[in-house]
Amino acid sequence: MADKVIPIHSAIRAAPSAPRYDGGALADTRGRPMRDLRISVTDRCNFRCTYCMPREVFDANYKFLPHEAILSFEEIARLAGIFVGLGVTKIRLTGGEPLLRKALPRLVEMLAPLGADLTLTTNGSTLVKHAQALKDAGLNRITVSLDSLDDATFRAMNDADFPVAKVLDGIAAAANAGFAPVKINMVVKRGVNDHQIVDAARYWRSAGRGGGHILRFIEFMDVGSTNGWRMDDVIPSAEVVRRIAEAFALAPVEPNYTGEVAERWRYQDGAGEIGVISSVTQAFCRDCSRMRLSTEGSLYTCLFAQHGHDLKALLRGGAADDALRDSIAAVWRQRDDRYSEVRTAETAKLRKVEMSYIGG
Ligand code: SAM
Repeated sequence: MADKVIPIHSAIRAAPSAPRYDGGALADTRGRPMRDLRISVTDRCNFRCTYCMPREVFDANYKFLPHEAILSFEEIARLAGIFVGLGVTKIRLTGGEPLLRKALPRLVEMLAPLGADLTLTTNGSTLVKHAQALKDAGLNRITVSLDSLDDATFRAMNDADFPVAKVLDGIAAAANAGFAPVKINMVVKRGVNDHQIVDAARYWRSAGRGGGHILRFIEFMDVGSTNGWRMDDVIPSAEVVRRIAEAFALAPVEPNYTGEVAERWRYQDGAGEIGVISSVTQAFCRDCSRMRLSTEGSLYTCLFAQHGHDLKALLRGGAADDALRDSIAAVWRQRDDRYSEVRTAETAKLRKVEMSYIGG
């Protein structure tokens, strides 16, 4: 069979030729500042979560990026420094599975001096091995994805036959290394793991009494174009909150900061809090301050983007920091995305960039 390539690469445009960045406040066409940077450090993953990297597409014939195409740690660190200079205060390393990238703690070590809040999203499968080194390198926080505590459900969802117990070990290792509270992300898909909502709440609220870990429920989204998304499969966050509240009394909590994507709820008996992320039913585009840097160095201004801007060509073409900064600023200033506010069944069919490539 021929190699499979999802044609994301052809969807990369040259970065706009940029006027000199004047040093003023950087805002997009809707007045949103650029505060967060998500960096995808690899497009590879050891899981094949059915809603993210379905095995039928990401199989043995799928063509992942070759090593020379992906940004080196030095290139990432240089760009990250420019982003911080433009106002970014939070950097999240993601992928793919970021801990598959060799020597990731070394990248953390290179980014830590920038002073941004440095975080990582991982499937937790190798955290036992890496948690301490990540802490020592200067990582501030960790989010672990865990969609079910029921082993059979989890193995089916990750489609790699990976057991829950090993992820729980990873979360414990992260806590021991000093990352508590860990955020636990659970993507909820109707008929697949929604029967686990209350069980997960129960488990993490009692575990939370010791470690204070925070469970967050994420609505199943129409990212990419391979996951067969249908609105019927989405469990609205309001329903998640209602189901949990039937078992444990909840009260709303004020956001930590403007633009926080998770809506927070606390258990009235003091057993910690949960979050719900409602990208589908309550779009938060209005406050979205995220820029994404793909594994091969393209800029994406929205998780649901159909094309990116090629920063790597400038970088490898010998551009000075000023020119890179002008280009990044120009991409942000042209940004007008608000996909989740205009989503329909029709837009869901558009050929969007895969999440494993631009970073979740
Ligand atoms: N491999 C890492 C992990 O598992 O956390 C980082 C990358 S993963 C793409 C980042 C997050 O995106 C995970 O929590 C994953 O569950 C979530 N995700 C992926 N596809 C999604 C979808 N279609 N809807 C909602 N969340 C999704």
